[in-house]
Amino acid sequence: MKYNEPLIYEISSPGRIGVNLPVCDVPESELPADLIRDELGLPEVGELQVVRHFVKLSQLNYAIDKGFYPLGSCTMKYNPKINEDVARYTGFAGLHPMNDEDSIQGALHVMYTLQNWLAEVSGFDAVSLHPAAGAHGEFAGILMIRKYHLDRGDVSRTKILVPNSAHGTNPATVTMAGMTVIELPSDHNGDVDLEALRAVCEGPEREHIAGMMITVPSTLGLFERGILKIIDMVHQAGGLMYMDGANMNALMGIVKPGELGFDVMHYNLHKTFSTPHGGGGPGCGAVGVNSKLKPFLPMPWVDIVEPADHEDEYPLYGFVKPEKTIGRLKAFHGNFGMHTRAYAYIRAYGGEGLFEVSKHAVLNANYVRSQLKDTYKIPYNRACGHEFVIEAHLDGAESIHALDISKRLMDYGIHPPTNYFPLIVPEALLIEPTETETKETLDEFIDAMKQIAREAKENPSLLTSAPHTMPVKRLDEVRAAKQLVLCCAPIMKGGTVE
Ligand SMILES: *Cc1c(COP(=O)(O)O)cnc(C)c1O
Repeated sequence: MKYNEPLIYEISSPGRIGVNLPVCDVPESELPADLIRDELGLPEVGELQVVRHFVKLSQLNYAIDKGFYPLGSCTMKYNPKINEDVARYTGFAGLHPMNDEDSIQGALHVMYTLQNWLAEVSGFDAVSLHPAAGAHGEFAGILMIRKYHLDRGDVSRTKILVPNSAHGTNPATVTMAGMTVIELPSDHNGDVDLEALRAVCEGPEREHIAGMMITVPSTLGLFERGILKIIDMVHQAGGLMYMDGANMNALMGIVKPGELGFDVMHYNLHKTFSTPHGGGGPGCGAVGVNSKLKPFLPMPWVDIVEPADHEDEYPLYGFVKPEKTIGRLKAFHGNFGMHTRAYAYIRAYGGEGLFEVSKHAVLNANYVRSQLKDTYKIPYNRACGHEFVIEAHLDGAESIHALDISKRLMDYGIHPPTNYFPLIVPEALLIEPTETETKETLDEFIDAMKQIAREAKENPSLLTSAPHTMPVKRLDEVRAAKQLVLCCAPIMKGGTVE
């Protein structure tokens, strides 16, 4: 189809300007000839035209502020606007990363307090806010596990156990950290196959086990019922336990991973703690550790360097270098804007509030699951955490795939769930409603899903040719990936976007 929003170049008209440059108060000089590129033809447009153009473009994007976004594993909850107010306080937003510590005590207080709150939520001894994403936190965690073993002179522990339901970042992290993955199967309930785990822990690989990475609740949205046994088996074999905490939205106030026996975990502040995410923008994959791994935390880490003299005074905070640190993984001090937002979020909710968040996230997921279970096949149909998986095979509509259902949902104004993940469920649709949605919104989604199941049987081409109402129709995803078009030149020359 022809993409019908004109390009900014197409609304350009000679002589229109959107800015008034101040009178030049320095001597004019010629630009070097090779810097002048007449063919670039900058658009000539007024301010209002520019505003309308970019506002229209921005409205083509789907966002949580526009509608329901049940993208499983991503926790697309509402990002409260008060977080944005707090992040924009001049005292925060105006800081420079090179400010000396004396002049940023307020910011350090926020970071220190957030570290402690996160440690409290999950039962760990210490938290570092340094990593910039979940995967980055995983990387920090696995490097800490590696260094822990090396520090004890145990050089043979180079392997990490990863269940086959894991998020793709888990095995990728292990490989990036220079270690090897031992993949574990799941049993018919979707839990880790304990016999397979026992075989590895008691077999010839025992001396090579550095640890295990596991997501709780799992990527199927299920609480791992054998978790205490798993932790014990891996610890007995000499390994450490890494929890992928991206799904903490199901656990706050309910279970503390540190108390279950985990040694290290990452949090996704851009999921559970409502800082914005998507588009590869700044995130925060804070890591929490127990006392074994605390000396290995990445640096810089915020601590009290001089206690307060009186109770009503603040201590002196500073960036410190943990004793056996794995070092620096990122420039400066992490994404501070994310720290202020997560601080505001936790401060606004309080401990009881976070407990309510998780209870409602779990309730909402179970409500949607119970309403859809007679229409769609739910492979592991038991009480779920904050999300659940559908296997999108519909009897009487064999030609329909998960992707067709997702594309059709867009016509109903709903962002599709996660497709084809976790990999162990064929035609998977992973649905995570989050706690911030009303029952009315959940009911609209349920109705749309039921209506689509009917359409699949009565008029399957409606699904296979969807979406019908979007500015861009169904993309050839393979061709889009293999023949990337990254600039608008072909379109400007009168081409089309398919
Ligand atoms: C989102 C997610 C990650 C990765 O987090 P990023 O911030 O995207 O790097 C890891 N594991 C699970 C289970 C996730 O849902």
